[in-house]
Amino acid sequence: MQVWFVGAGPGDPELITVKGQRLVSEADVIIYAGSLVNPALLSLAKQGASIYNSAKMTLPEVIEVMVKAVAEQKKVVRLHTGDPSIYGAIKEQMDALVKHNIAYEVIPGVSSFLATAAALKCEYTLPEVSQTVIVTRLEGRTPVPDKEKLVSLAAHNATMCIFLSVHMMDTVVKELVDGGYSPDTPVAIVQKASWPEQKIFRGTLATIAGTVAAEGIDRTAMIVVGHCLGSDYALSRLYAPEFGHMYRDASCD
Ligand code: SAH
Repeated sequence: MQVWFVGAGPGDPELITVKGQRLVSEADVIIYAGSLVNPALLSLAKQGASIYNSAKMTLPEVIEVMVKAVAEQKKVVRLHTGDPSIYGAIKEQMDALVKHNIAYEVIPGVSSFLATAAALKCEYTLPEVSQTVIVTRLEGRTPVPDKEKLVSLAAHNATMCIFLSVHMMDTVVKELVDGGYSPDTPVAIVQKASWPEQKIFRGTLATIAGTVAAEGIDRTAMIVVGHCLGSDYALSRLYAPEFGHMYRDASCD
């Protein structure tokens, strides 16, 4: 194995996995996703490692660096923000490696929507509130399939984590309300979750667009929508007193 796709986590350099950290420290070549990977992680690199910022590269250039390094028997780490499987554009890289007969592995990371829950100290899956988390985004340069437009997803009133969309907050709110969330649905925005400059803004669908505009939040933020942010819920059955330990142990939830 010579190429590893590694989830760097949401920002705090201690939120990379132990395995990811080891691979970064062993790599001869590191290609990292510029704006969102904390540069502090690069200080783990061994002396003499070649480091590339993929924000300044095209896909063929990234692949060329990988292919050349592998031909020279070098270890390559491709460092992606959060978890590589979420808006990470890794499929096209993996498929290109397959074409070159290069084996690779993927090491998961803490996605920003999970670091956001931690920052908010919230539980996305509250009993009798929502048991579903929808991870989605508004359409940007990348189109969103028709059946997945926010306005359709909103009908479920589930917990929603919306990536890549805070710069279009008015549209987010309009689609969510048109789709069936009431205007008093709680919303939280977490900017740069787990970074020292992390900021949290709370409101409702009626108020949040105003807050986002006033605070000038236009990037690196997660939008969380749903009554999981409120205070009404049912107690978990998992820890209910009437449940014996045997059931707890046997239970999957
Ligand atoms: N693979 C990444 C997502 C990359 S897409 C992951 O798993 O988190 C980039 C988007 O992720 C940003 O527009 C923003 O919506 C979100 N994001 C990334 N890092 C974030 C952070 N630290 N706090 C809040 N949102 C973040």
